[in-house]
Amino acid sequence: MTVPAYAAPAAKAPLEPTTIPRRALGEHDVLIDIAYAGICHSDIHQARGEWGGGIFPMVPGHEIAGVVAEVGPGVTRHAVGDRVGVGCMVDSCRTCGPCRAGQEQYCERGNVPTYNGRDADGNPTYGGYSTRIVVDENFVVSIPEGIALDAAAPLLCAGITLYSPLAHWQAGPGKRVAVVGMGGLGHMGVKLAHAMGAEVTVLSQTRRKEEDARRLGADHFHATSEPGTLERLAGSFDLILNTVSADLDMGAYLNTLALDGTMVQVGAPERPATVPLFALLGRRRSLAGTMIGGIAETQQMLDFCAEHSLGAEIETIPAEKINEAYERVVAGDVRYRFVIDASTFA
Ligand code: NAP
Ligand code: ZN
Ligand code: ZN
Repeated sequence: MTVPAYAAPAAKAPLEPTTIPRRALGEHDVLIDIAYAGICHSDIHQARGEWGGGIFPMVPGHEIAGVVAEVGPGVTRHAVGDRVGVGCMVDSCRTCGPCRAGQEQYCERGNVPTYNGRDADGNPTYGGYSTRIVVDENFVVSIPEGIALDAAAPLLCAGITLYSPLAHWQAGPGKRVAVVGMGGLGHMGVKLAHAMGAEVTVLSQTRRKEEDARRLGADHFHATSEPGTLERLAGSFDLILNTVSADLDMGAYLNTLALDGTMVQVGAPERPATVPLFALLGRRRSLAGTMIGGIAETQQMLDFCAEHSLGAEIETIPAEKINEAYERVVAGDVRYRFVIDASTFA
């Protein structure tokens, strides 16, 4: 079937309306009528070729929320009419160690990304900036009744990407967690860490987001542009989640970790960073990275969000505003995630 979509025809070219093929429904496939697609900063990095090697034309979108329209004959996990979501991947080898452990994002043969990848037949994958998508049932999660589809869409990337490290490094009561950068990912980090019971600090460039941060659950807020801020916070945190993709003074941030603290890189920069390794020695600190989360874990995250009445803070836009929204994300002018109304792709 052919469906309407928005695509970047080449790296850095503005997105424009187009049509794309969706495969015929296979035995275990689910056809989803997309309701909303979030705009992740990764969409912008990739549509602009900032990570190199993009497949064009590119239809971004890996924060997909919608309703099941049709299912293949072998589908057991989802039924027509179900509210469902699709995140950053649509397949993996399913047999390697990480896949068997439910960590398909770390598949040893590489997971199949929702867009800017190739499926098992070698065809390019196209993401959620579209009206419909066909996905294997094992890579489709259920969106609980308690979360509206528009506020749920960003959970499929921004939500799981922060939930997974918070769970892995055991954020909870007694843990001091700092979130660096309160954008799409960061604002979900604040909500999730607060709901897990951690003591949450936001490290933002300016004071502009302070009121929002406190409303979303931050206990403390610091503006890193104010001189001496990071120095005063030396030894303060057990866990830092860095969602920033710009160059940061890594040594200054590492020094805010307490004994055995871990700084987890979440933002995906274009360039290698410089890390003064001496900052790790004195307090046995760790520097780590994390990428999205597994499928079962994504379902856990959605259930956790429903239980704690959490969704993303969103601004809904029609498809024709995508290019403008990209500019606004890059300029830091979004509170806190753009979500595209998929009916406007038609
Ligand atoms: P976003 O909405 O643009 O948020 C990024 C935040 O970083 C901004 O809101 C801003 O927060 C801060 N920031 C921006 N420029 C900065 C600068 N020059 N110096 C310091 N701070 C700056 O982006 P996002 O969608 O949350 O994505 C963040 C990054 O994570 C992107 O690189 C994205 O590709 C990556 N990502 C990674 C994964 C993964 O699996 N690891 C998954 C999804 C996305 P303040 O205003 O509070 O300073
Ligand atoms: Zn993303
Ligand atoms: Zn695998």
